[in-house]
Formats: sequence, structure tokens, C-alpha cells
Amino acid sequence: MLHNLRRVIQEVNAANNLDEALSIIVRRVKEAMEVDVCSVFLNDPARGQFVLMATNGLNPAAVGKSRLGHHEGLIGLVGERQEPVNVADAGSHPRYRHMPETGEEPHHAFLGVPIIHYRRLLGVLVAQHTVHRRFEEDEVAFFLTVAAQLAGGISHAAASSGPSVTSNGQPLQPGFVQGVRGAPGVALGTIAVADPLADLASVPNRRARDTEAEEVSFCAAVAAVQQALRTSGEHMSAHLPAEERALFDVFVMLLGGDTLVSDTVRRIREGQWAPAALRDTIHEHASVFENLEDPYLQARAEDIRGLGRRILMQLQSEDVGSRTWPERCILVGEELSLAQIAEVPINRLAGIASVRGSAVSHVALLARAMDIPAVMGLDDLRVSWLDEQPIVVDGYEGRVFINPSAAVQKEFQRLAREEDEITAGVRELRELPAETPDGIRMPLHVNTGLLSDITPSLKSGAEGVGLYRTEFPFMVRDSFPSEDEQYQTYRAVLAAFAPRTVTMRTLDVGGDKNLPYFPVDEDNPFLGWRGIRFTLDHPEIFLTQLRAMLRANADHGNLRLLLPMISRVDEVDEAAAHLARAHRELIEEGQPCAMPSIGVMIEAPSAVYQAHALSRRVDFLSLGTNDLTQYILAVDRNNPRVASLYDGLHPAVLRAVVDATEVARATGTPISVCGEMAGDPAAIPLLLATGVDALSMSACAIPKAKWVIRSIAKAQAADLLERALAMEEPQSIRGMMDGVLDAAGLGGLVRAGK
Ligand code: PEP
Ligand code: MG
Repeated sequence: MLHNLRRVIQEVNAANNLDEALSIIVRRVKEAMEVDVCSVFLNDPARGQFVLMATNGLNPAAVGKSRLGHHEGLIGLVGERQEPVNVADAGSHPRYRHMPETGEEPHHAFLGVPIIHYRRLLGVLVAQHTVHRRFEEDEVAFFLTVAAQLAGGISHAAASSGPSVTSNGQPLQPGFVQGVRGAPGVALGTIAVADPLADLASVPNRRARDTEAEEVSFCAAVAAVQQALRTSGEHMSAHLPAEERALFDVFVMLLGGDTLVSDTVRRIREGQWAPAALRDTIHEHASVFENLEDPYLQARAEDIRGLGRRILMQLQSEDVGSRTWPERCILVGEELSLAQIAEVPINRLAGIASVRGSAVSHVALLARAMDIPAVMGLDDLRVSWLDEQPIVVDGYEGRVFINPSAAVQKEFQRLAREEDEITAGVRELRELPAETPDGIRMPLHVNTGLLSDITPSLKSGAEGVGLYRTEFPFMVRDSFPSEDEQYQTYRAVLAAFAPRTVTMRTLDVGGDKNLPYFPVDEDNPFLGWRGIRFTLDHPEIFLTQLRAMLRANADHGNLRLLLPMISRVDEVDEAAAHLARAHRELIEEGQPCAMPSIGVMIEAPSAVYQAHALSRRVDFLSLGTNDLTQYILAVDRNNPRVASLYDGLHPAVLRAVVDATEVARATGTPISVCGEMAGDPAAIPLLLATGVDALSMSACAIPKAKWVIRSIAKAQAADLLERALAMEEPQSIRGMMDGVLDAAGLGGLVRAGK
């Protein structure tokens, strides 16, 4: 059964749309359970009904037509109870409601289980049998497992499909897919799926604009690959054993043979563009081999896929540069790269949505620097279905709406308009200080990490760099950067901001920030070899970086050095010893340099509790609320499944911020905030009241932050903090702050930091 289940899930994942996914489910589950009928009813919340969306065994004409109210019939009973309903004779059950159009009369045994995704009832999966009997325990268990396993796929299929594929033209789900916040803002536009080079699985569906031209370019690609294979076969013949050489012949033969080519051409003539026609043909042919028992023949599936990739690569190389982009383009991809973003003309790029990646991915950082809304970590979004569909990107909540309803579109249009007005309003504040109405100044700094990031950071009116993430120059290379390469980068940043200070953090890899050339595979990377733990274990890497930073500081002396992921005081002592050594060596080598001030990130809960001991050892503290929130709440900051639990306004996080700040004030140690919370309009008044000395945020958040600070007096903020600390739930605190921003005329900002 388990084997069957895995196969069903694989097939469902490979389906092209919701209807196809559902029909695979009903067919496969019916076979696996050896029942007479398997059907799926989906929830239509707008009408308060369940709709028959797929069946194998009942009258197919009833699909899309048979509907039951939420409290009607046995289906309604499953929905109410949210647990299995197993009856030997459905017709004699008091809740039975006859649906004549389905032709269900001969079927007596009934088993219905709810399909639930993240607490949301998506529908009901039903099995029926002509005999009178209750289903066995193990059958019920299997059915429940199927429903639970398929719920995610169905939810995303429904959300990714939109109205066009539902049988009655009504969207069945409110239709958003949850990811994680990449860059704030909202955008409405049309999806352009980034073409991933030679990745067949990610090729999007797209109608061929000119069938003939598609066919010609496909045939040309095949001919080119065939020729290349022949040439390499000949070329290699002297060096390869006969068996391997034969592989080239097999490839050439596969291509010369009629079906791979003719099947693809047929699909093109039916209207698909060449890459998708090729994708489906390759999938079909490879599946035939994959399902054979003989391992040798099974392995041929990979040959076919390899061949498919080569042809695709050829097709794509012909295609580069010829693509037309929608006016308001939302770039969507499995794992977007900077190069793919760069392909879209900048005046057309309105938003970004990526299946993989997190808030600290390069792409998210770039999006923030460019002030383009982005959502990352959209697990299971069916990218290949989405090309040219309308979409709303909600970067505040980290979610996207595919094929949004008119009401959703209207709401987001309103928000986008409000945002534009706010942006226009805040621009005027650029030259004004971030000062509360009762005269308290709050220095605003920027977080940065990409060289391309410098311009917006400089223009933002920031008073310095509160966090320069050095891992990014490390992540964009294929080996550790040399001391000199690092020196050049750091020097450019320090020079650009001088005389303002730049707080450079030493390498903070690990967690979700892996170096491509130094892969670390851990079960629990966020609790693993991260930040200072990694660099102390690799003094050669650490010392190189420290030397580069000290040398870069020689010109302007505006460097402050920050240590990430400190969870013990001896880490600070060791790091300080390395710094002293790097400094001593440079002086001995005759390179003049001054010791910068040194600080630690407070981002592990242990650092909050040891803030006293830490502040005795350093010159300043910096609250990394991104990690602090994840560690205090035990919520992975990049996991969309628990995204709704991640909230910097949780009372426990606020308490930690207050405690650390009190220690800093008692010891006279400057303390700032450099996590995303620093740019959250709802959090800013509370942070201000804690007495932190500066806030550091992405460049695009600065104008709004300034507006909040200039609108809310410190005295009012202190009162709000007191009230917040007495509250028990994050939503109460957020509700109070939203109300305050609204009352201050900053309502449009209310969503801005959520
Ligand atoms: C933080 O954890 O709050 C922080 C600023 O560091 P990063 O987001 O780079 O982990
Ligand atoms: Mg951190």
C-alpha cells in the first residue's frame, strides 16, 4: 500500500493541472483500495457547498454539477466532524442525501475522509462499494493517509490553477499560497516563468504563438544535438570502451527513430510551445522505462531524460533574447538566480516569487535593494502551470494569489495606491531628522551586503551601515575570496560611507547560508555550525577576513566589527584574541591600522541572559531579532508551514529585547537593533521606548521608519510598551499598534512590517 501511495503522490505531483491531479487520485486510489467508486468533493467556501470535482465510478457528467450544502448528506457529516465516516449501507443512514445525477444507487458501503491542509478543510475523499459492509480498520487508515498526504498537493493545485480549470468557472479556494517574506510591498501583474536552463521539470506550459516556427526550431534543435552527438561519439571513440561508445549510438538512434520526434511534433501541432511539448514527450517515454522491472532498462529512463535536457538546452540557446516580457512582470521560478532577474527589463519587473530561497537569500536582498516586492519559499507552487497568469505578490505577508478574484485584486490595488502615496509623502522627509515630536533622535542605519546595494543605501538618508553582511561576497564566488579580494570589497564599502560608520559582521555562514564550494550537511543547521562557531574552527579563514577588514579600515577608520551567533562568552574572548593577533601581525608587517570597536550580535537566547558578561567584553551590542525571534519562539524563520507563528511582536521576544536593553543601559553599552523588526512600523515605537540607541534596516524601510518616528512621541511609545508587555498574545500587541498607526494617519503602513 505504501508503495502505491508513493506512486500516486509522484503522479499527482507531475500532473499539469488540478483536474488532471484529481482524476489521477480517484483512478489510482480506486485501484489501490479495490473499491467500485472513488470521488473527490472539494469545498467551495464562497457558496457554502461541496462540489463533486472528480470521480471514477460515478456518472462523469455529474462532475462540477453535483453539489451539497456544508451540512448536507454524508459528505456534510464528514466536513462537520472532520473525521472519517464509515457506514455499511449509506442509503439507510439518517444523514443520507440522494444525488440521482451521480448514479450512486447500486453502491452501499461508504467511506468518507476529510482532506485537511493546515487546519483548512479542502474537501472530502470518498470510497464506495456495491456490497453492504463497513470498511476495515486498515482500509480506513490507508484512506486517511492518502487524504493527508494529498492535501498539500490539492491545495497548491487549486491555488495554482485558479478559475480556468475548475469545472464551473468558480474558484474553489480563496487561492493563496503561503511562502516567506522576501521583500516588502505589494504588486499586481502577470507571471513570467523564468526559463531554467535545461531543467525539463520546470518548463512552463505555454501556448505556441506560431506553431510552424516552434516546429522548425524544435527540428533544428534535434538536428543540432544529433550532429553534436555524432561528432562527440567519433571524437571519443578512440578513448572509450565499446559499451560506453554504444551509448552515443543509442542516443543518435533514439533521436533518429520516429516516436520521440513525432510525439513532440504532434504536441506542438496541438498548440504547446516546443519546450513543453518536449517535456511531456520525454516524461512519457521515460516513464515507460521507469516502470519496467529490469534495472538496466529502468536506467534507460535517465538516458532519455539526459537527451531531453540536451535538446532543451539547444532550444533555449536559440531562444535567448527573443522573449517578450509582460508590462508588469512578476518573475516566478523554482530557484531564481540573479542572472534570471537581470534578464527582465528593469522597468517591467514588478515583483518576484520563488519556490526556494528565504528572506536572506541573495534574490530577496536584491529585491529589497531594488524596492521590488518578493515572496520566497513558496514550497510546492506548481511553477510550470503558471506562465502568463495574473498574480498578486504580497511581500508583507509572504504569500501570492494566483488568478486572484476581483475582490482580492481590488483590495491590493487599493493597498498599492496607498503605498504610492506614502512613498511620495515620505520622500519629502529625506532631509529631515528621525526625531520624535518630543525631541528624541533615533539614528537610522542600513543593512547591506551587496555592492549593488550601496547606491540605494547611500540615497536612503541613512546615518551609517548598521549591518554589513560579509557572507554575500563569499557566496557569489566559487572559492573562498583571498585577503586581497576581500580587502578591495570592504575598502570600497568603507570609502562609500565614510565618514559614517560601517558595522561589518564577520562571516556568518551556516544555517540557510551555505557556501557553494564548502557544503555542510547537517540535520539541524540553524542549531549547528553557524557564524562564529564556524570561523573559530577555521582560524585561517577568520584571520584572513580580520586582516582584510583591518587593512580596509586604514583609510577612513570608520569600521566597527560585529561577531555573529555568539552563545558563550569564551567565543568573544577567542575572537578578540584573533583580532589582536591580526592587528599585531599587520603592524609587524609595517601596515598601519587601528583597532576598530568590537560588538556582538544578541541573537541566541543565551546571549540575552549573559548580556551583562558580554557587555563587559565589547564596545557595543546589536540585537539580531531575526534569529532571536526564531530561537525564542522555536520557529524556523524560513519555514512557510510555521510562518504564521513567527512574529517579532510576540510578548516573549519583546521581553527579551527589553531585558537586553536594560542591561546595556545599566552597563553603559550602546545597543542597536539590526533585525527586520527594526524596520517594522508596528515595532518601531516599542523599540524606541525600550531605549535602544539606533535602528538598522534595509534601505527601502528607512523613509517609512522615519515617518513613524516623527509621528509618535517617546512618551506615547513608553505607554504603549508598558501596555504591550502586559499583553499575552502577539495579535493583541499587533492589534494595538495597528490602531495607533491608524490613528496617527499612518494606516497605510499598518501592514508594512507584518
Ligand atoms: C538577525 O538574525 O536578526 C540578523 C540581522 O542576522 P541575519 O538575518 O543575517 O541572520
Ligand atoms: Mg542572524
